[in-house]
Amino acid sequence: MNEIFIGIDLGGTNIKIGCFDSDIKLIRKTSTPTRADMGPDTVADKMAQTAEKLLTDAGLSLQEVPSVGLGCPGPAKYREGIMESATNLPEFKNIPFRKMLSERLGKPVVFENDANVACWGEYAVGAGKGVEDMVFFTLGTGIGGGIINNGKLVHGCGDNAAELGHIIIHPDGRMCNCGQRGCVEAYASANSTAKRATEAVQGGAKSSLKKVLDENDEITCKDVYEHLKAGDKLAKKITDETAMALAIVCINMLHITEPKRIVFAGGMIGAGEILLNRIKDYFNEHIWALRKEPVEICFATLGEDAGIIGAAALAKQAYDEGKLKSG
Ligand SMILES: [Zn+2]
Repeated sequence: MNEIFIGIDLGGTNIKIGCFDSDIKLIRKTSTPTRADMGPDTVADKMAQTAEKLLTDAGLSLQEVPSVGLGCPGPAKYREGIMESATNLPEFKNIPFRKMLSERLGKPVVFENDANVACWGEYAVGAGKGVEDMVFFTLGTGIGGGIINNGKLVHGCGDNAAELGHIIIHPDGRMCNCGQRGCVEAYASANSTAKRATEAVQGGAKSSLKKVLDENDEITCKDVYEHLKAGDKLAKKITDETAMALAIVCINMLHITEPKRIVFAGGMIGAGEILLNRIKDYFNEHIWALRKEPVEICFATLGEDAGIIGAAALAKQAYDEGKLKSG
C-alpha cells in the first residue's frame, strides 16, 4: 500500500490542506476559511472534515494515511501539541490542536509552529535538500526562523529555540514588537523594511516612493523592491540596510550552528537577486577573514505551499522514524 500524508497549514484567514504521496509530491490541495470566531472546536472540526473530503475528492481514503502534519502560527508547545497564541488568531490561547485533530481523524498528528514547518519543508524537499545543517528565515510581517542541526529541528529546552527574528543586532536600535531593542526583525522583516522607507520619505528623503505614500497612505515592501528595480536611490538604500541586517545574523548563525545552507523565504524575497546578492556581499565583507566558510545563501523554493508541504514532510518523517504518537 502506498502511504498518503496530509499536511495542514492553519492560518489566521484560511486553513490550507494538501494530500501527498510518500515522496511528498502534492496530489491535491484545498483551502477553507478559518473562521476562528466560531471557536477552536469548530476550527478542529473543519480541519478534519476538509481533510476527509480532500481525500475522497482525490479518490483516496483515510485508511491510507499513517499520519497527519499540522502547522500553527505563533509560539507553540511542541511536545504537548499546544498552540499558545498568535497575533493573527487572537481568539486562541493554549489550544491543544494536536489532540483535538488526532481525536477527530483517529490518526497521529505531528505538530509544529509554522516557521519550523516551512523550515522542514525546505529542508526535506526544497532549497535545503541535500544538506544536514540549515538555517531558515522567513521575512514577512515579522521574521520567523528555523534551525536544522544534524538533520533535526532544534526546539530548545522550552520549545522556543530559533526565534531568529529577535537576535539583537543593534543594542540601542529600533524598538521591536517583542519589547527588545535592536532585533533584526525591527530592521529586515517585510514590514520593517516598508516602515523604514515610509519614515525616510516622511522625513523628506527624495524618492519615487513619495508618490506611493501620497496616493496610498502607505508604502509596502513590494513597493520598495519595485522602485528598487526601477532604480530609485532611496529604495536601494533601504534594501541595502535590510541586506546588511540579514548578513549580520547570517554571520552570527554561522558562528553558532555552522549551517551548510542559509535559506530565506517570505514576502521580502520578491526583491529577487538584487537583495540576495547584497546579502552575500555584506556577508563576505564582514565575515572573519581567517576562514571564509563555504556557506550557501539562497532563497526558498516552495512558495506559498511551504506550509502544507512541510507539515506533510514532518508527518512522513515521524512515521519513518517510528515516532508517531496519538493525542
Ligand atoms: Zn524582537
